[in-house]
Amino acid sequence: MAKGKVSIDVDMHTDKLQLKLRAISKHTAALADELDEIDKSICPECGDLMERTTFYEDKKVFHSTSICSNCIENTRSEM
Ligand SMILES: [Zn+2]
Repeated sequence: MAKGKVSIDVDMHTDKLQLKLRAISKHTAALADELDEIDKSICPECGDLMERTTFYEDKKVFHSTSICSNCIENTRSEM
């Protein structure tokens, strides 16, 4: 599943390191969620990237619709 590589530079010579690490972990979690969404946007039929419409509620995905322009296949996923 780990296709891309994400690296983060942390300046270890500063104080407030815990706060910085917490900030980083918050953002990497959001980033991981986004990467998951991208992985889900691959057409199961032809493997192409699908056009995806996502609806958010309180910053969480509650519904999304993906359409593959190759297959004109509609897939829906509820969350
Ligand atoms: Zn397709």
